[in-house]
Amino acid sequence: VLSTMQDVPLLISRILTHGSTIHGASQVITWTGEEEPHRRSFAEIGARAAQLAHALREDLGVVDDERVATLMWNNAEHVEAYFAIPSMGAVLHTLNLRLPAEQLTWIVDHAADRVVVVNGSLLPLLAPLLPQLKTVEHVVVSGPGDRSLLAGASVRVHEYEDLLAGKPTAYDWPELDELQAASMCYTSGTTGDPKGVVYSHRSVYLHSMQVNMTQSMGLTDQDTSLVVVPQFHVNAWGLPHATFMTGVNLLMPDRFLQPAPLAEMIERERPSHAAAVPTIWQGLLAELTARPRDVASLTQVTIGGSACPPSLMEAFDRLGMRVCHAWGMTETSPLGTVARPPAHAVGTPEEFAYRLTQGRFPAGVEARLTGPGGERLPWDGESAGELEVRGPWIAGAYYNGPDAEPLRPADKFSEDGWLKTGDVGTISPDGFLTLTDRAKDVIKSGGEWISSVELENALMSHPAVAEAAVVAVPDDKWGERPLATVVLREGAAADFESLRTFLLEERRIAKWQLPERWTVVQAVPKTSVGKFDKKVLRRRYAEGELD
Ligand code: ADP
Repeated sequence: VLSTMQDVPLLISRILTHGSTIHGASQVITWTGEEEPHRRSFAEIGARAAQLAHALREDLGVVDDERVATLMWNNAEHVEAYFAIPSMGAVLHTLNLRLPAEQLTWIVDHAADRVVVVNGSLLPLLAPLLPQLKTVEHVVVSGPGDRSLLAGASVRVHEYEDLLAGKPTAYDWPELDELQAASMCYTSGTTGDPKGVVYSHRSVYLHSMQVNMTQSMGLTDQDTSLVVVPQFHVNAWGLPHATFMTGVNLLMPDRFLQPAPLAEMIERERPSHAAAVPTIWQGLLAELTARPRDVASLTQVTIGGSACPPSLMEAFDRLGMRVCHAWGMTETSPLGTVARPPAHAVGTPEEFAYRLTQGRFPAGVEARLTGPGGERLPWDGESAGELEVRGPWIAGAYYNGPDAEPLRPADKFSEDGWLKTGDVGTISPDGFLTLTDRAKDVIKSGGEWISSVELENALMSHPAVAEAAVVAVPDDKWGERPLATVVLREGAAADFESLRTFLLEERRIAKWQLPERWTVVQAVPKTSVGKFDKKVLRRRYAEGELD
């Protein structure tokens, strides 16, 4: 029997139209570093997205599913690009501005980007790459920055505001196929070449609805969300799209991502929600400890991207900022789990433990655990295996060039099409995921596995330790052993013996897991999206730098 329901494709243009009319008064607030931030209403964003689409089509000749890249911070213009490009049928390609030059060049080439929309402040990054970028014909510059860097470039250069000026403020958005490509994002390529994930209109739409659910971020038009997670990092975890469905105001930090301006933004603009990786929050915590501010408005903080250390959650709880831990990856759009404790645990001593897990799977994400021999493991909260997931906003393949069949490498996709996450952990009978490690980061010591994350969390709960990263290093007797690299707090002192004693107290970790090697570092190296870069640590150790 056929359904009797209307067949209305789930399109990003519909999210835009909804947000810019029903929630037309909501605002995108962009930090400028000056006295006043810049404020633009959702209605204005809608009008300007239409103007941008006209400009891309009529002045730059963007047709069909051509790729339009952005090399931008989080700001109002980037939100306009987020909506204009997919809504007109083209594909938005967000470029990670922290990638090394060779990788950026490779990615632009691989995606065959024809246009790059760039913030003026990032021209020093883009200009030197232009001679190598084979497919780029147009560069559109937005915001302050030295245009002379583009003198002599062989591309056509446009001013963002000039392109928009005088264009119609409405666009007859096409009725696209909801399965069509809307945007793309490359993983940061920890091993081998970066891999491109292409999101569809449908996947973005459904993912946005999930982000908005009460059991996920659950924000409303009474909220303002400080989006620290970059728009190039898995679509800022879906926030720009999701907020246009619900009218949540967006507070965008632009290039002011250091702890001091973030603290100032919170104090002055009073966001109720914020999202970022743990390292950003560690930095903010240190800032707020040194120079207390009124951050009382910020009651909900979403942390993901790497495991949230318990010490960070406790410290934020004390400041009245309630942490909500979530797990995801580029391939999962990214929302995969959210750690909202179940009703029976709320207000009990169990609640904190639930909040520290990676969280529960929403209805749109199916999960299973696979053991080393390929066997399915039970959801008993004890059996640890590789997490595999499937769902309407989860990648089933990687992009392989505009006209090529997508890639399905066997180490990333199971034969029956599930995504192999590379994350190792357990699932409880009530569906809470606890990750012990990334498969490539666990320390394989004499046939037993040591979780680098557990050791890091235990070390970071020591009052003298600001940050700690643990990696596996080769060991003659055990195969691998943990090496602890520790960043001490300003003015704090600790010796290795006292740290080892601390780790054994209260059975924080078992004796056989205790690291024999450790080193104090100035800072833990970070990846392009602010996670501990363990590849760099392993290399430095191999090169004898970390003894
Ligand atoms: P990259 O692979 O370049 O780091 P992603 O942002 O896609 O880029 O990273 C996804 C990975 O980040 C996950 O597979 C997982 O290992 C890790 N991760 C994300 N969120 C969490 C979390 N809450 N706890 C532990 N690990 C996490």
